[in-house]
Amino acid sequence: MNARTLNPESNFIEREPYYEAVGSEISIFEAAYANRLPVLLKGPTGCGKTRFMEYMAWRLKRPLITVSCHDDLTASDLVGRYLVKGGETVWMDGPLARAVRAGAICYLDEIVEARKDTMVVIHPLADDRRALPMEKLGVIIEANADFCLAISYNPGYQSVLKDLKQSTRQRFVALEFDYPSASLEAKIVAAESGVDAALAERLVKFAQMTRNLKGSGLEEGASTRLLIHAGKLIAKGVPPVTACQCAIAQAITDDAEMLAAVQELSSSLF
Ligand code: ADP
Repeated sequence: MNARTLNPESNFIEREPYYEAVGSEISIFEAAYANRLPVLLKGPTGCGKTRFMEYMAWRLKRPLITVSCHDDLTASDLVGRYLVKGGETVWMDGPLARAVRAGAICYLDEIVEARKDTMVVIHPLADDRRALPMEKLGVIIEANADFCLAISYNPGYQSVLKDLKQSTRQRFVALEFDYPSASLEAKIVAAESGVDAALAERLVKFAQMTRNLKGSGLEEGASTRLLIHAGKLIAKGVPPVTACQCAIAQAITDDAEMLAAVQELSSSLF
């Protein structure tokens, strides 16, 4: 845990993050926040969910505390724990408790990855109780009026184990994210990577070809994030086909045949 996450005041986003609205997600999030309703961002990896949260935190002038969930993440990691410091036992708030106290936006990225016991602390925060049970301290704290809970979830990885339960999902206002339209995605890729418009358009075309392979050998197609990575390599002089291979193809598959097929696609475009 770094110093940034320790102090919610330092999690304010000072400069406006670059964010291109895809639909009415900004006004819907604002309306949900005005009603203190928790928000669920659904969508594939690398399509702009984290950037959107950064933008909304800046727009709503709230600190943003982001937690990337993983399969070892427990309720204690979110709420806090006793630590031994210099021979003394001291309580250390976890990121969720800090956000609840400070009135920050807490964004739990890829929530289904976390251990099941995390839901025990999320559920009372995600309904009108807006309370965080801190079992180890034996208290329940009420959320600061400005607190906001947001979670993300990728329905594409759905499996029985990685599904979001109805009892959880039915507490949230859901915003569906997907890759932007081709022209908007090209604009984003050009702005974020520094390549020109024509090259960005070709990268997007390449991404769309890989997205069409989803389900026939590929788990996911190339995300906007990967296009930006490839664009950044190209902007630094890496030949486009090599950039697509290193930044995109190798990132989406290990299968030799699929790699060759994806390489053929990029050679046909660049
Ligand atoms: P996710 O959280 O969905 O995995 P990110 O928010 O990290 O994805 O998006 C990956 C990158 O794509 C961002 O860092 C940003 O550069 C770019 N991006 C995606 N969508 C947008 C958008 N609508 N506006 C601006 N940048 C975007």
